Amino acid sequence: MRRKLVAGNWKMHGSLEANARLLGSLTSGNAGSGNAACAVLVPFPYLAQTQTLLKGSACRWGAQNLGEHPSGAYTGEVAGAMLAEFGCTYVTVGHSERRALYHEDDATVARKAVAARKAGLTPIVCLGETLAEREAGQTEAVVERQLEAVLNVAGVQAIAESVVAYEPVWAIGTGKTASPEQAQEVHAFLRELLARRDAKVAAEVSILYGGSVKGANAESLFAMPDVDGGLVGGASLVAEEFLTIWRAADRLAS
Ligand code: PEP
Repeated sequence: MRRKLVAGNWKMHGSLEANARLLGSLTSGNAGSGNAACAVLVPFPYLAQTQTLLKGSACRWGAQNLGEHPSGAYTGEVAGAMLAEFGCTYVTVGHSERRALYHEDDATVARKAVAARKAGLTPIVCLGETLAEREAGQTEAVVERQLEAVLNVAGVQAIAESVVAYEPVWAIGTGKTASPEQAQEVHAFLRELLARRDAKVAAEVSILYGGSVKGANAESLFAMPDVDGGLVGGASLVAEEFLTIWRAADRLAS
């Protein structure tokens, strides 16, 4: 059975003081019976603090990006092995902000997923369509292209050791959430694409939904059969909201 996962994407937010409060709430807040996994994805400079404060707790941590090379003359880049040294479990690749603002294409995302696996990290492979693409009826074609790009470079076995996150771009940070049915439709489609390569991988890989997940809508989204939890941006910065989302996942996983 797939384990539910709630991952908080802090984006470029935080400070040592604010993080200490937020991480403290995550370790002290009762987030259920441990059926659902939890993680926070923090800016690089806060990895050491996060590792110190979350070590031994039920919540794991990770980063939001990594360089595609293992080391070398790549000024400003951070290698997967460096993230592993700070105890990271996860790293997002292909977040729509990286694709749109930093021009990361499908091939780059695929190489980053491979680099993450080589460093022993679990990549959270993000994909999703823009509003214009949805309105043009291209949702399936877009997510298929994005997923196939990773499958073709990394192979289906690498996906077995990854997490997929469907994040419709029009729902990220907009307060507009996909309905549970809209999310389910795309998640089922992604699973079907994976099943064409390997039925076992398709059945076992976790597919998260991301896009304005809140305490108030988490349960209805996570209750859908192919939605295995959430990638949460804004709401992950508010301890009570994030704990509510984690508890919703935990109840459904029990
Ligand atoms: C995200 O950052 O991946 C995200 C889904 O953000 P939000 O929850 O704020 O829409």
